[in-house]
Amino acid sequence: MNESKATRYQRLRRRAQLISAATGAALLLLVALTPGAQWLARVAANQALAWPASLQPAIALSLFVGALVLAAEAVAFPVSLYAATRGRRRSSQTRVDVRSVMASQARDAVVGAVVVIGVVAVLRVAMGAAGGWWWAVASALLAGASLVAMRLIGRGLTATGQTLALARPALSEALTALVARIGGGLVDVREWTSPDAGGARAVVTGVGGAGHVLLGRDMVRDWADDEVVVVVAHELSHHVHHDLARTVALDASLWCAALWCADRVVVLWGGRVGLQGVMDLAALPMLALAAGAVWGLVRPLRLAQSRAHERRADRFALEQTGNAEAFGRALRRLGEQHLAEERPSRWTRWLFHRHPPLDERLALGRDFSARRQ
Ligand SMILES: [Zn+2]
Repeated sequence: MNESKATRYQRLRRRAQLISAATGAALLLLVALTPGAQWLARVAANQALAWPASLQPAIALSLFVGALVLAAEAVAFPVSLYAATRGRRRSSQTRVDVRSVMASQARDAVVGAVVVIGVVAVLRVAMGAAGGWWWAVASALLAGASLVAMRLIGRGLTATGQTLALARPALSEALTALVARIGGGLVDVREWTSPDAGGARAVVTGVGGAGHVLLGRDMVRDWADDEVVVVVAHELSHHVHHDLARTVALDASLWCAALWCADRVVVLWGGRVGLQGVMDLAALPMLALAAGAVWGLVRPLRLAQSRAHERRADRFALEQTGNAEAFGRALRRLGEQHLAEERPSRWTRWLFHRHPPLDERLALGRDFSARRQ
């Protein structure tokens, strides 16, 4: 694999991420520190007057948040186009379909708006119910919602026909035996067939006893059985060690910190830009900025937890399958598919990587087989 190409691709991807985060922050700053937030809040409240009184707060909130998310996506559009152009050039396709970039941006905007409106609605319910402790109650509610979503998503995808039973009998048999041995027999391994689930990837869903491991189409169809078995053993480690629940637990404590800081910023300085406390609709941009800043600062902590989970899952997969050779092949395939950098800088690792670098993971496999001999 061409390492410099991978390094360059990852550098561009990181740059696009940073630019879109920076443009989003700049937009929020502009709205929060000018009369923009107050104006938008007034417009949203006036538009909501046409609705029954009981629906007005929800409508005003949706209009306010929806307008901001749309504006953020519009500002981010040139960045997406730039990233797509560089990406296509990498895969030596000459034309970038502007319409398909726009369509995916529009889809992201709608999904983003729905998620943000849902989260903000939870925050406001917590503010109404818990007063000065809203940040703690909101974090607990969001953690509960994440756990419920993780429990339901595998079943939801299967119920809506977005997963398939594995078609290869030998592979299916090997995985059933593996799951019976280490997953308590409660994990269902299936092919993930939704349009954006192509490529070679595997995810685990579910908290508690039952769960799903979903495998991308390319992995199910093109990979050798022993490579898929190693990947599923890795995913089962996440399941048996409750990594998803641990992630939610850490995130919830960090949400507490971020929302508490946001509360302090609005309470202490919001008056200077005319805000009347955290319940003021116009306070949302300032809350988002302060919480987002804390969230950015604690990112290395979240990534370090993820890398620790991944390291444990790699060790677990090696111990459970004893197949370091298939482990190495699977990692090479994944590395090529995702153009992984073999030796990223320490800063890159700290600020961007959910997985340990490829060369570290490959060395783990080599050490394992050396110890076995
Ligand atoms: Zn993993």
